[in-house]
Amino acid sequence: MPVTPVKPVTPTVRVRYAPSPTGSVHVGNAHTALFNYLFSRRHGGRLVYRLEDTDKSREVAGAAETQMAQLRLLGIDWDEGPDVGGPYGPYRQSERADRYQEALAQVEAAGRAYRCYCSAERLAAMRAEQAARGRPPRYDGHCRGLSAAERAAHGGEPHVLRLAVPATGDTVVADEIRGEVRFQHSELDDFVIRKSDGTPLYNFGVVVDDHEMAITHVIRGDEHLANTPKQLLLYDALGWAPPRFAHIPMLLAADRSKLSKRHGATALVEFLDEGILPEALVNYLGLLGFSPPDGREMLELDELARVFDLARVQRSAAVYDPKKLQWLNTRYLKAWPAADVAQRVRPVLAARGLDPDAPSDAAPAVAFVDAVETVRERAHTLRELAEGLSFLYAPVTAYDPAGVQKQFGPEAPERLRALAGSLEGLPDWSHDALEAHYSELAAQWGVGRGALIHPTRLAVTGTTVGPSLFWCLAALGPDLVLPRLRAAADWIEREQPAEAARAKAGGAADAGQQAPT
Ligand code: GLU
Repeated sequence: MPVTPVKPVTPTVRVRYAPSPTGSVHVGNAHTALFNYLFSRRHGGRLVYRLEDTDKSREVAGAAETQMAQLRLLGIDWDEGPDVGGPYGPYRQSERADRYQEALAQVEAAGRAYRCYCSAERLAAMRAEQAARGRPPRYDGHCRGLSAAERAAHGGEPHVLRLAVPATGDTVVADEIRGEVRFQHSELDDFVIRKSDGTPLYNFGVVVDDHEMAITHVIRGDEHLANTPKQLLLYDALGWAPPRFAHIPMLLAADRSKLSKRHGATALVEFLDEGILPEALVNYLGLLGFSPPDGREMLELDELARVFDLARVQRSAAVYDPKKLQWLNTRYLKAWPAADVAQRVRPVLAARGLDPDAPSDAAPAVAFVDAVETVRERAHTLRELAEGLSFLYAPVTAYDPAGVQKQFGPEAPERLRALAGSLEGLPDWSHDALEAHYSELAAQWGVGRGALIHPTRLAVTGTTVGPSLFWCLAALGPDLVLPRLRAAADWIEREQPAEAARAKAGGAADAGQQAPT
């Protein structure tokens, strides 16, 4: 949906979304991307897409492009990035090596970082000793105090570069959401900023990029909060003004554990494949940890962008609830004009080989959009909607097995044929006329209406649930209904499902008699 331009509050807002191309977009990442998008749009600012692709061992081929395409499915786009360019590029970390080297040299020259020559063995022994004493692992500063002569003696030996963190005092993160969070320097390591192969570490690269890309607000998941004091120390060491920080709540599963595969779908595409509308997903993610001032629950992307406010983002973790997402999706399916829903369900039908304009059975009597209007009443997802519509556009090739047991007894073939006979030539195929006809027949034959309705539904739709049977009959029309009633009668006689059920209950194992499952 197009975004309505909003009046800039702060004309220079620049935010970024900085994923690593290690897989497809997870809901947690989409949440972060969305909040950055909303904030940038709310303030008339710019959203930068930065690819953090320096860890080649974790990179998945093609993931960078896939992730961008997936976010765009949600309507999220960016003003600068690897695919669209922009004045602050390059936007791939792998293309920014020279900038990191410059900045690394700068911190070293300023005496704010030192070379550490400690061997892996020495560091391992140090950590083992700390662990034995119940202390957290921390570099002991061995190389920090090397004299110039000692340093010179190491010559060109392999080394890392460590930031010299002040021994005392603290660094305060003035978080836009969490308020002031204080980190004692004594708790911080002299962390490595350049590896022995000369490449920078995450915290360093991010600071250089955020500074050079003129980022004003770093909005990211609060699992990064512990990195922020380190980044602030780096800004200080480099003599740069830091951006503002806002750590948004992490998404947790209902059991308050970290959201993972075992909680069901977690990748954006999985939701979309299940038939969740991108708009509903955006709406849901937008309200995960954020509440609009008027408490509204249905807001599309542009509406969210109009009301988004970091001050209304909660501090505590946001619990991800798939039922709520489905509920919201259902509301969208019902609230949108049926023609819009019809457009969205077409590709889902097509994926099942169904085309409402070219049904593989005779054409039904109902217009596609009218069918959508009725069938959507019971659907929670586009997939359910497509399932519910299938009987109109494809022949019935299987009957619901539980329905077969109940509705396709020995009397059913005759009854279904009699129904077909009585419907043949019925002048009025409207819902009401069909209903009146069934009532009359039931009275005439001395059976309940259900005894006619249920087998008919199973015969003409293959299922036991759906919209009113009389709607289904009217929607299909006589050209589809009559042959289906007769085909079901033939099928029952051929398969003898009732006898098969009896035989099965009696323990007989004649496979040829079993109702299809
Ligand atoms: N590449 C980091 C991530 O995917 C982004 C860190 C940041 O936003 O600073 O978590």
